[in-house]
Amino acid sequence: MRKSYIYALLSIAAVIGVIGYFAIDTTEQAPVENEQQLTAADVYWSYTGETGPEQWMNVDSNYEACGRGELQSPINIELKETANQQEAMKLAEQISLNYDQAIFTVENIGHTIEANSTTLENSLLINDKEYKLTGIHFHSPSEHQLNGQYFDMEAHLYHRSEEGEMAIIGLFIESGEENLVLAEMWDEIPANGEEAAKVLKNPVDLQLLLPEQKSVYQYMGSITAPPCTEGVNWFILEQPIEMSDDQINRFSSIFLQNNRPIQELNGRDVYKFNLN
Ligand SMILES: [Zn+2]
Repeated sequence: MRKSYIYALLSIAAVIGVIGYFAIDTTEQAPVENEQQLTAADVYWSYTGETGPEQWMNVDSNYEACGRGELQSPINIELKETANQQEAMKLAEQISLNYDQAIFTVENIGHTIEANSTTLENSLLINDKEYKLTGIHFHSPSEHQLNGQYFDMEAHLYHRSEEGEMAIIGLFIESGEENLVLAEMWDEIPANGEEAAKVLKNPVDLQLLLPEQKSVYQYMGSITAPPCTEGVNWFILEQPIEMSDDQINRFSSIFLQNNRPIQELNGRDVYKFNLN
């Protein structure tokens, strides 16, 4: 009698354990893929109006960090307030960039244009940990500010470690020469979300996409769209890259405004150093 009672208890515990395992598994997998893939299928939110940034927290209970988080992005980067130079040098030594080429797919996911890498060969190394480049998307105008100034656009290059930690390289974009590295991608931008993802024919040379000067601002923040998950390692290049007015207008004719407002710094350090 007593033995079968113990077996019954053990099997109940096992069932709970299995359920618990899967419950944890799904919730932990959810917030990592990338900012936009997550949200596209999720609860509706927008950049203006009743489901705009001030309301993101209330749109869904999973979006609480958007309102209550204290390490949120984007921020205004003040040049003269960057932190301790020695610390910055230490950080610089821990970081290296392994960029070559990649074929991308391009699609309109409603909140932005998302270009997904078809290879995981490109990466950012932070303290010997590899963060693989998964995709690039765009904001108009920029999300981050430099000395209180916005740029015409901003590109976000997404990287993810095996454990799901995120690192994002941000590139400011300003009006100037036609950007030939992104020319094919721009020709293929789908005007609406009904169109299927297109596979680009030519690889994008990621080294050539970056600006010549590799000064970066590093700080810890969040993804800039719901669910506003924190723990993102941000690297914002100081020198903007260029796009022609035609290219900038092509994007803003589809997304007039898709940038989140500036968030409080809350005492966070911003470091400046050169990316290798
Ligand atoms: Zn973004």
